[in-house]
Amino acid sequence: MQNVLVTGGAGYIGSHACKALKAAGFTPVTYDSLVTGWEDSVKFGPFEKGDLMDRARLDEVFAKYQPVAVMHFAALSQVGESMKEPGLYWRQNVMGSLTLIEATVAAGVKHFVFSSTCATYGEQDNVVLDENSVQQPINAYGASKRAIEDILDNFGAAYGLEHVIFRYFNVAGADPEGEIGEHHRPETHLIPIMLEAIDGKRPALTIFGTDYDTPDGTCIRDYVHVCDLVDAHVLGLKWLQEGKGSSVFNLGTGSGFSVREVIDQSRAVTNLSVPYEEGPRRPGDCTKLVSGSSRAETELGWSPERSTMAQMIGDAWLWHREGHYDK
Ligand code: UDP
Repeated sequence: MQNVLVTGGAGYIGSHACKALKAAGFTPVTYDSLVTGWEDSVKFGPFEKGDLMDRARLDEVFAKYQPVAVMHFAALSQVGESMKEPGLYWRQNVMGSLTLIEATVAAGVKHFVFSSTCATYGEQDNVVLDENSVQQPINAYGASKRAIEDILDNFGAAYGLEHVIFRYFNVAGADPEGEIGEHHRPETHLIPIMLEAIDGKRPALTIFGTDYDTPDGTCIRDYVHVCDLVDAHVLGLKWLQEGKGSSVFNLGTGSGFSVREVIDQSRAVTNLSVPYEEGPRRPGDCTKLVSGSSRAETELGWSPERSTMAQMIGDAWLWHREGHYDK
């Protein structure tokens, strides 16, 4: 069995990645501080608690498991928070990742899969993004992820650390088998907040801005099912193992949904109405972020089959209704 070190394996995307890795025959070793993750989401391999900036602990875990690769998800990921506390994002995301990358090189591990974001592109004039779009982040979260991409490029050149970078934005849905799902505290993401509003766990959803330059005035995002997303990561790992070298892939569906469209779709899926109010813009939000994925589809053979809005909301709703958010 090949061990893969999964940072953030107790988090939303990381835990789904662990399930996909196990299904593909790897042993996912979760390394997580539990600052935002949940130990009971670690179900598919061993768990090692630790902080990304704790180099001694990282060295110990690398020595114990001798992983063949690293999948790096652990990060702070709230755009709004990153605007209020940029230092936190530069420290945790950039310094944490640098420490991890140095430990990876020191351990002789040559393959690294990194969870980046379309927030590295920033505000672009209503175009569908591709991997060559210019990266001009408008929030500290996106800036911190772009900096990590630069670190990986430099370490690739200096030490032969081969890496696959995935840039994605809005991840949604949950494991259709109900073993794991999205659970952030505090929750800031649109779909879980909307589901909490639907069943009365919060009074209402606030739409952040209705005066954007979009057909209905609300922001447009490209949503990808978390299971499709993690499948791409496994394909990225195999890509590296086949010796195909460092690469960058956008993971999107190429079609965007406005906040109002997401609300309408959830009504159709749950048969319940969404209590909502209209509020001001949230600092750091781009008008539209839609990313094609033709490179991932042609080169990796990725197909985001579960990424319909109906399935994403449906799977998230199933998870939500089982009461996992009540913890
Ligand atoms: N959004 C909203 N109300 C909320 C949370 C999010 O209107 O309570 C909007 C947000 O402004 C953005 C979209 O929903 O346009 C997706 O936001 P989310 O925080 O889910 O993801 P992000 O795009 O920031 O990664």
